[in-house]
Order: sequence, then C-alpha cells, then structure tokens
Amino acid sequence: MLKNNTIPYDIECSRIKNFIEKHKPKHILIQLPDGLKFLTKTILECIKEVEWKPEITISGSPAYGACDLAVDEAEAIGADAIIHIGHTPYPYTSYRVDKKTLYIPAYYTGKTPEKLLEEIANTVSGETIVLTASIQYVRQLEEIKKYLEMKGYKTIIPKPPYKEMAEGQVLGCIYNHVANTQGDTYIVVSSGYFHAIGLCLTIPSLEKKIVLADIHRGKAIDLTRECRRIISKRIYIVSKLINTPVKTVAIINGVRPGQYRPYLEKYIRELYRGIGVEVYTITTQYIDKNILAAIDQGVKADAYIILNCPRLPIDDLSDFYKPVLTPGEAVMVAKKELGYRYPW
Ligand code: SF4
Repeated sequence: MLKNNTIPYDIECSRIKNFIEKHKPKHILIQLPDGLKFLTKTILECIKEVEWKPEITISGSPAYGACDLAVDEAEAIGADAIIHIGHTPYPYTSYRVDKKTLYIPAYYTGKTPEKLLEEIANTVSGETIVLTASIQYVRQLEEIKKYLEMKGYKTIIPKPPYKEMAEGQVLGCIYNHVANTQGDTYIVVSSGYFHAIGLCLTIPSLEKKIVLADIHRGKAIDLTRECRRIISKRIYIVSKLINTPVKTVAIINGVRPGQYRPYLEKYIRELYRGIGVEVYTITTQYIDKNILAAIDQGVKADAYIILNCPRLPIDDLSDFYKPVLTPGEAVMVAKKELGYRYPW
C-alpha cells in the first residue's frame, strides 16, 4: 500500500502493477478527478516499480465520475490502456470501450476522528441508522457501525445494486438500494456535500434525517433543512413549467461511455413530441453555463434537459437564465407530476 505524504490513501499499487504486467500496454492514459490529482506522483512512483515500461500520459481533464472515462483522449493519443483513479466502474455504459481499463478507487486509510464519531451519535435520531459512503470512505463504515451499535442503535449497510459497487457505496446518481432500505437516519460518509445531497433528492421524505459525516472537517451535519430548501426550489421550477407549458426543449446528451444515454434520450424525446413540444437533441462532452449559453444562442429552447449527469442542473446550472432540468424533472414536467423524482 502506497500512502500520500499528507493524506493517507490506498491506491492499490499491487493492482496497478499486476494490470501493467498482465496487459503490457504500450501507452497508458492516467485519469484522476481534480480532488485526487495530488496523488499523480504517487501513481507514477508505483508504475516505475514495474519492469515493463509503457509510455504514460496524464489526463488534465476533470474526471467527474466513473461515467466520465476519457476514451476519446486515449484514442487521440493512441493509448491502449486507461488507469482511472478515484472511482469504481460505472454500471451503465452505452457503448463498448476497447481500451484495457483499470479503476482504482483510492480508499481513504485514515482513522475516523473520535470527535466525528461522537458528533454522529449526537446527530442521529430514531432506532435504525442506514450507513452509506462515497467510495473513498466505504472502509470507514465498519468503524462507524461498531460505534453506533455500542451506543444501542441498529445499523444497516445497504447491499449494492450492481456488482461494480462496494457495500454501502453511493454514487451521485445511484441511491435506489438506499431508498429501498428502511431506516430513521441515513448517514453519508464523504468529504463535501455532493453525495449527501443526492441522497436527499432520492429520499425527499421529511420524516427521514439525512446526515453528512464529513471525514476531513470532522463534522456530522444534519442536512434536513438544506434538503427541504433544494427540493422546494426544484419543485418550483417544475411547477412553473407545468403551469406555463414550453414550446421547445433541447435534450443535451453526454458522449463519454457512462454519460451518453441514448435510451433515455429517445424516451424523453418521444414523451415531449407526444405532447406537441419541438425537441432539439444536442451532444457535448462537458456542459457549464458558458457552454449552455452558447448552445442557447443557437437553438433558443424554452428549457434544457441534461442527460450527461443528473447533478448538473442542480449543482452547476441552477441559476442559468432559462430552466435546466434533470431527466427525472423533465419526466415530471411532461407528465404534469409534482412528486419529486431523482435522478431519472
Ligand atoms: S453523479 Fe454524475 S458524475 Fe457522478 S457518477 Fe453519476 S453521472 Fe457520473
């Protein structure tokens, strides 16, 4: 196990070495999310230990998720293998990737701070606590489970719905296994709000408490009020579109293996055409406010539906000057339903 000098992460160096020794790639593209790019040299040191010497290129792109596998970059540089750090494989991909690919999740190996354990126990309520984590922190779940059980709580770590995922793991767009697990408080162990907010969106019940256990800040944060605020805002956007129907929408689809969703595109396109709405379909590798503004200059749609990642309309594009919907919200608008659905 190699560890970064400041923050301990298990980058499973032996798996990286075995992968290279087994496949003997000529050229490897290494992809890391921005938050883990500090591990680049640790990965390179690991690769240096292998006798086989491939050409190495480091992708500077953001690598937002396992969905965002840089096959196009690998193709452009003639790489025959990709090492993708920070995620487990994405369970839904819409086309075959013909590069040898290794996913290294980079597990956090630090101890859960005692203060955080105490804060978690003081923040939870009810009898049954459901324990989840983003991939980096799934190894912390057993420690938290033991602590809460010692305090008298019943705990559940949900089984993953896909073989690619770990016990208790959530992705920003995969929570169905957690939503199907009955509990009083749902804990998401992570660093930052991203994964916990996704769980709020999936379980909008006000009777359930969603708690973010932030490992690096050592804080347990009850997100119940924040969840209510976000969901109210999203339902407001949907209800406005139901009350003032749109004439045109643009469906924006991703292109990377886990972000290109042709079946969803077809379903939503037919749904909207069926109610007399003109539909444009657009592809893009990344989308932000500037890219969307440029697209809007072209098609001038009344609303935009983003398929690349269902978090983009909520986290990055919520203050765009036109309505931007997740796939689930687009279905709510077309079917005139106000029961919040996330993500699809
Ligand atoms: S939440 Fe978005 S970035 Fe994360 S795995 Fe899902 S589609 Fe990819």
